[in-house]
Formats: sequence, C-alpha cells, structure tokens
Amino acid sequence: MAEQVHHHNPFYGAKWRAAGFESPPTLDDLADLPFTTKEELARDQEENAPWGTNLTFPLDRYVRVHRTSGTTGRPLRWLDTPASWQWFLDCWLETYRGAGVEASDRVFVAFGFGPFVGFWTAFEAAQQLGCLVMPAGHLSTEQRLRVMLDDGATALVATPTYGLRLLEVADRLGVDLAGSGIERTIHGGEPGAGVPAVKRQLSAGYGARVFDHAGATEVGAWGYPCGVGEHLHIFEEEFVVEWFDRATGEPLDPVDPAASEAAEPVLGELVLTNLGRIGSPVVRYRTGDVGRLCAVGCPCGRPTMYLDGGVLARADDMFIVRGINVYPSAVDALIRETGGVVEYRATVRQRRRMAEVELEVEPDQGTDAGNLRSRLQELFERRLSLRVPVRIVDAGSLPRYELKANRFTFLD
Ligand SMILES: [Zn+2]
Repeated sequence: MAEQVHHHNPFYGAKWRAAGFESPPTLDDLADLPFTTKEELARDQEENAPWGTNLTFPLDRYVRVHRTSGTTGRPLRWLDTPASWQWFLDCWLETYRGAGVEASDRVFVAFGFGPFVGFWTAFEAAQQLGCLVMPAGHLSTEQRLRVMLDDGATALVATPTYGLRLLEVADRLGVDLAGSGIERTIHGGEPGAGVPAVKRQLSAGYGARVFDHAGATEVGAWGYPCGVGEHLHIFEEEFVVEWFDRATGEPLDPVDPAASEAAEPVLGELVLTNLGRIGSPVVRYRTGDVGRLCAVGCPCGRPTMYLDGGVLARADDMFIVRGINVYPSAVDALIRETGGVVEYRATVRQRRRMAEVELEVEPDQGTDAGNLRSRLQELFERRLSLRVPVRIVDAGSLPRYELKANRFTFLD
C-alpha cells in the first residue's frame, strides 16, 4: 500500500518526501511520518479544487463521492474506488457483528439519504450481511415509526439524537416502542450512545440493547461495539491506532484495564492510519475524537484495544469558560443525567474576552420547570464548576435534528 501511495498519490508522495522519505515508508517508520489534519485536507481540496490531490489512482477509477457534514469547518469531499468502498463496508460489518445483528434481522436505517457517507455504508453493509434493509429517506418521523412497526424492524440505525427524537414522537402518539420488535439499536454520527444516561433512555424506550459505532467519512468505520459496558473496539486489522495527549503533543500509552483506576482519568486524541482504503487513504490522521484508550484486555476477549465509554468528546468543539475546558459532550451528558429534558440549546458568548454559556431547555411533560432549572444549575456548578443561566422554553420551540445535532451556538 505504502509503495503505491508513495509513487502515485500526489498528496502523500509530496508530504512524505518533504519529511525525508525518498523511498516508501514502512509501518515501522510510522512514528516518524508527519500527522495529517482535516484542515490540511480541506486546504488541499481548495487549492486543487474540487477533489484535491489525495488520490492514488486516476479519477476515472473512482465511483463514489461523499461529503462531510461541515459542522467543524468546510465540508470535505471524499472519493472511493469500488475496492476502497468495499473496504469501508467490510469495516461496518464488524459493527453489525459486534451488535449481534444477523442475516435474519430487518434493519431500519432512519436517515434521509444524502451526501453523508454514514447512511450508505450502514445500509449496504446490512444488505451484504444478508439482512432485509429498510431505507427511510423522505419520510416524516411519524411515517418512520409506522414503517418500523408495520414492517417488523428488528434493528434500528440512527444518530443517538434521532433515536431519542423517535421516542419523543412515539410517546406523543401513544406508540409503545418498548413493546415493538426492535431488539437492537445502533448509533453513530455523534458521541451519545456511549453516554450512560442516553444509553439508558434509549434502552428503556426501545426495550432493546443499545450499541455505539464510530467512524468518519475520511477515515472509515473504525470503532465497533462488543456489548461489554460502553466499550468501543478499534478495528486493528484495518487501522493503526495511536493515542496522544492534546496538551503536550506527546504519545500516550494505552491504559491497562487491569490496573486500578487513576484519580484523574487520562483522556487523549486518537490518531488513526487506515490500511485498506488505498484510493484515498489517511495516514496518522488527527481524528479529533477524544477518549480513554485501553490496552488489549476487554472481558469480551477480543484481541484489540478499545475506548472505554466510546468517543467521549470532539476535540474541535472544546471551548474555555473561566479557564475551564468544556466539551459540548460533557454538557450534554450532564443534561441527560438530570433527566426530564426533551431538547436544549446552548449559547456560548464571548463577553469582554470571557466565554459564558447559557442554556435553553425544553422540559418533558410532567417535569416541574422550576425544579429542573435548579437541578441543572446545581449539577453544572458541582461537576463542572460552571454557573450556567438556564431558561425554560415552551414545548416544541427548539429545533430537532435527524443528522448530527447542532445544539451549540457560538457568538462573538
Ligand atoms: Zn470488548
């Protein structure tokens, strides 16, 4: 792979030669190769529009193009050859296997099918597994509920946010999803299914086992569940994983799962190299996914490293309030833990060079608004040392999301 990429891929060929590699590097050289960043790929596509130069083959060998959502900057275009696409699907199959999905399952894919790669890979991988797969684009949430029930879906694939949205609407319509045939739900696209409070809510709502999945358009489907806690295994046959301290830039050793818990859990950023997407590879890619990487030793017996709790945060989303690093996923986890919240919106304002965060919150029916406000404020103060003004808003007044939720607004 490295030989082909070195000789024929202008992006990595130039990058590696600039780093002193006149001949193709081997896996032993990996630590001496430069990182790849999303910003760098976006710049390359801008300067060499539209596709950029991270292409190992002539353009006519590529058969698909997908786009990132652009929630953290300019959208990236990503091209695949038939072989690299199949590689992506093979990685997705690990997620289905980890979640116990079998050929006899009926898989409902609750997305509008757009340029985001996640819909297509989830759908086609389920088909290759032999499942009966149900597309659900251009249907309202009510219609999706109806199809899931009428056509006997046994597995649901959705973002965690949309999984909760389906529950909210089902509740309003008096539809009992816990009593439906859904046995498994699989979630990706954003951190969430690894958040214990969200997982509990999904599990109770569907009466199902809840699984997390991780991947990215430019990287592939790299993380699959095993059913032990919120563990997310790295698919090490197809990815080389490295783990870094974001503050110091130093590599971190994976945590020994048998060792006693440190007082302050170590969090680091995953850096991944994919081995099978030769048409458009990433090598030492800064994923922006933050978590706690554990060495081999998961009780499930799989011989790979895993993230304890899945992806806990996105590095790009971090903001600083009064000297405290805050991840939106931490805010989300606290709100979910409090319970009684249907939807929320956070606004982060820069005031006199200080960031402040405010919350608007939609309580569910039967939750006392005043009590919810004080519980939230108390929890934010106690856990994150943050004073957060909370405004209670009317039911149905905040936006709902089918794809990646966008609940944080940043104002200057
Ligand atoms: Zn495991």
